[in-house]
Amino acid sequence: MQLQESEGQNVDIVEKCWYCKRNLADNKYLNIEEVSRNWLEITGLPKIKHQKTRKYTSKRCKNCFYIHKKVDKIFIATFTISFLCLIIYFLEYWHSYSFEFLVLPIIFFIVFMPIAHILIEIYFAKKYNTKPKCARIG
Ligand SMILES: [Zn+2]
Repeated sequence: MQLQESEGQNVDIVEKCWYCKRNLADNKYLNIEEVSRNWLEITGLPKIKHQKTRKYTSKRCKNCFYIHKKVDKIFIATFTISFLCLIIYFLEYWHSYSFEFLVLPIIFFIVFMPIAHILIEIYFAKKYNTKPKCARIG
C-alpha cells in the first residue's frame, strides 16, 4: 500500500507510532501533554512576563496507549500503598518521636515517588520494546 515507506523522510507521512516506531499511529490514542512553565513567575523576575505552556503531541498506537495506561495504574497502586504505609507510620510514631523525625519520611516520599514513576515507565517500556511516556518531554 505505502510505496514510499522505505524512505526515511516519509516516516512522518505514514504516521508511525512515536514510541515503538513499529505500529501505525492512531489519532484516537494521541498522547497530549501540556508542560506549564508557571514556575518562572514564582521567581518574580520582572523580565519574564508571559507564561510558557508547551503542548506536546505524540503520535501513538493502540498498543503503546495500553502499555502507558497500565503503567499509570501500577503507579497509582504503588502511590496508594506507599501513602497508606506513611499514614500507618505516622500513627505508630506520633507520640514517641520528634517532629524532625517525622519530616524525613515525607521528604523520602516526595523524592521516591517521582523516581519510582520513572522507573516503572522505563521497566515497562523495555519489556514491551517501546519508549516510556515521559520520554517525549525534556
Ligand atoms: Zn506504539
